[in-house]
Amino acid sequence: MELCDQSVSQLAQMLRKGEVSARQITESVLKRIDEKEQLIHAYITVTRERALEQADLADRRFARGKRVPLLNGIPIAVKDNLCTKGIPTTCGSRILENYIPPYDATAVKRVLNSGAVLIGKTNMDEFAMGSSTETSAFGPTRNPIDPRRVPGGSSGGSAAAVQAGETVLAIGSDTGGSIRQPAAYCGVVGIKPTYGRVSRYGLVSYASSLDQVGAIGRSVEDCALLLNAICGHDRLDSTSADIRKPDFRRFLKKDIKGIRIGLPKEYFIEGLDQGIKNQVYQAVALLEHNGARTVEISLPHTRYAVSAYYLIATAEASSNLARYDGVKYGLRSDQEHADTVYMYEMTRSKGFGLEVKRRIMLGSYVLSAGYYDAYYLKAQKVRALIKEDFDRAFESVDCIITPVSPCPPFELGEKVQEPLQMYLVDIYTVSLNLSGLPGMSVGCGTVDGLPVGLQIIGRPFDEETVLRVGHAYEEISRNAQPGI
Ligand code: GLN
Repeated sequence: MELCDQSVSQLAQMLRKGEVSARQITESVLKRIDEKEQLIHAYITVTRERALEQADLADRRFARGKRVPLLNGIPIAVKDNLCTKGIPTTCGSRILENYIPPYDATAVKRVLNSGAVLIGKTNMDEFAMGSSTETSAFGPTRNPIDPRRVPGGSSGGSAAAVQAGETVLAIGSDTGGSIRQPAAYCGVVGIKPTYGRVSRYGLVSYASSLDQVGAIGRSVEDCALLLNAICGHDRLDSTSADIRKPDFRRFLKKDIKGIRIGLPKEYFIEGLDQGIKNQVYQAVALLEHNGARTVEISLPHTRYAVSAYYLIATAEASSNLARYDGVKYGLRSDQEHADTVYMYEMTRSKGFGLEVKRRIMLGSYVLSAGYYDAYYLKAQKVRALIKEDFDRAFESVDCIITPVSPCPPFELGEKVQEPLQMYLVDIYTVSLNLSGLPGMSVGCGTVDGLPVGLQIIGRPFDEETVLRVGHAYEEISRNAQPGI
């Protein structure tokens, strides 16, 4: 196995024993990028020189022999909607093509302070609006497992890079599924923490009440280690929670005997691919066999979740994206402008892609005076009901298990012309964002060679149980199916 394919704890151990250098690890990742990037296109920017410099710095930290953080010398990729000082941050959009932030997002700053080596900025759906990474203005990313297929989205570049060994860890963001669904499609692990667990400072806003930064890795443990580095209170984000910051790795090994797993009946109905359903049931049976108890639960408002999500997310997006006007950020149309309003119009027409324009129009509509009550306000009420469904369920279970996506990774071009079909892919993921809950995708086998993701949902700020069940499942399934 090459260095770029190893787990964080393996690499950390080798680094500490002096068996490899951070430079060698970074070179291994860069070599993989050279081999695969042309096909996969996981990155918008690769920060090659800087990565090598950072790796050398990490090696010097080891040489000094002091206690070094666990992520020292570990390659990491960052989704291109998190600000990186001095490095372009495009959000997958023409309108920010030339934007170079003067500061680091808090999550970025924290991993850099932990000594991680930034490899580059990953491709994404424009402004994180999409489920396939096809709406990126810089061209789509391909799924490393089957390059005819999408890697999921919007953090498709991050998930694909982790799967392909083009990085070891990646940071993503999740507004309605954008970490969990690409993790599922690329056969890696992705966790969206509780809203407020990780600072959003420096994350370019899509829908602020739903956005959350999280971790993508090749194992639950790798994600736990990254989460340890990025989480915690930040006074620069007023919605960041000022609560205890646990060591997420400590709980991984705790067994799952007696743990109560809820299976929401509304998540296993028509529309779910039969193969995926079988895989998820099999995974649950394995967990039961190892001491977990399952309980059928009901989340009755599930069927309104996609509608509520697309009203609230677009409303917030239309407001957040008003700032791209050709004055404050990025692109300005270079036509002759008779007046300022015309300049705004030209800039935004040229700078935004089709999906982003569709969302701005939808969002402006649902917020408009005549329709606010009928759409936006109603969606907020439904949001409260969805949250209550979960509160009730968590009175009798410790976590909830569902599929991540109703369908396997689809082919490029298959859904991009049909927004509604694309939106429906988010059916199992958006409710968590509407409720602020933590959720993780862990690989649970394949259907016709394509990876399936198991979603584990926890109570607010109980990422520990989510990680623990995910880790237990990884161990159990590895032993149950030798060779996989
Ligand atoms: N697919 C969803 C959307 O397009 C979720 C995206 C995300 O989580 N950023 O809004």
